[in-house]
Amino acid sequence: MCGIVGYVGNKKAKEVLINGLLSLEYRGYDSAGLAIVENNEIATMKEKGRVANLEALPGIGKLEGNVGIAHTRWATHGKPSKENAHPQLDNSKTFAVVHNGIIENYKQIKDFLVEEGYSFVSETDTETVAKLLDYYYVDDPVDTIIKVLSEIKGSYALGIMFRDYPDTVFAVRKESPLIVGVGENENFLAS
Ligand code: GLU
Repeated sequence: MCGIVGYVGNKKAKEVLINGLLSLEYRGYDSAGLAIVENNEIATMKEKGRVANLEALPGIGKLEGNVGIAHTRWATHGKPSKENAHPQLDNSKTFAVVHNGIIENYKQIKDFLVEEGYSFVSETDTETVAKLLDYYYVDDPVDTIIKVLSEIKGSYALGIMFRDYPDTVFAVRKESPLIVGVGENENFLAS
């Protein structure tokens, strides 16, 4: 289990998210990543190793969006790698997920989703959550998240973004720590 940061406000999300990840660095981690809403699309950047490696990625400085989620990973399912770093997304980049914890029944869910035609790019348990969101999504994000939670077993803190709701970060937790910081015209998420 490692770190989650989320931000919704008027500042550049990239700055807040990277600073948040740096504050969580002491816990140790193997990779880091973030997702920010840019022009109503979810832009994702991730890298193996230190937060400094993420911060050094070409183009990251150009991210101007004010809403995002970020993650430092301590691998439980799948080796430390760029592909396995979070955020994990669905195939159409409509949903982005950061997760601390373990989805115990991920194999069962993955097998079901593969049969339904989904393809997976990572070895993580977390990717099943992104794909399940796509499986259940019609138009209501909270309903969709509730359906996904009824399927998954285990411990989790989840930060979730929907491309169709670009001003909002959704968060849920079970057994894994996650808090919401309520500010003036800005809100935060941290594990
Ligand atoms: N189980 C997830 C993974 O292996 C999350 C690990 C974490 O809590 O950082 O990707």
